[in-house]
Amino acid sequence: MRVYNFENDTSLSTDELYMKEALRLAQRAFEEDEVPIGAIIVSQGKIIGKGYNLTERLNDVTAHAEMQAFTAASNFIGGKYLKDCTLYVTIEPCVMCAGASYWTQISRIVYGAKDEKRGFTKFNQQIIHPKTEIIGGVMEEDCATLIKSFFRNKR
Ligand SMILES: [Zn+2]
Repeated sequence: MRVYNFENDTSLSTDELYMKEALRLAQRAFEEDEVPIGAIIVSQGKIIGKGYNLTERLNDVTAHAEMQAFTAASNFIGGKYLKDCTLYVTIEPCVMCAGASYWTQISRIVYGAKDEKRGFTKFNQQIIHPKTEIIGGVMEEDCATLIKSFFRNKR
């Protein structure tokens, strides 16, 4: 009997494939005892910026995954605007990162799990640039599971 393999990567959408990449970075943060959040920035099918949370290592509350990825992508492009780019981040951005995304004028933000406590949608969605499209809930379960197991270990 043949069984359809739901784990097969070919069944994943483009957004899910890129989110998997962001999840890999979140996993790396987890291994380094950082809050496991990962982010990548994609432009025309190419990853141009990566980052994961480094607040512990850098002793810097601003060292969120998205901030690392914005800086990396801007360095790659040689410009501060990230038009025609998509940010993939495993957890809904906080107000700081949403605010930073405004200044980049990024085209799309795709996030995994919602952050009920500090996510920007809880506060004010107008923080986001009017041209930025927001998509939430991509690979939500995987993203949420990783962060939940991190905080479970902390207790
Ligand atoms: Zn943030």
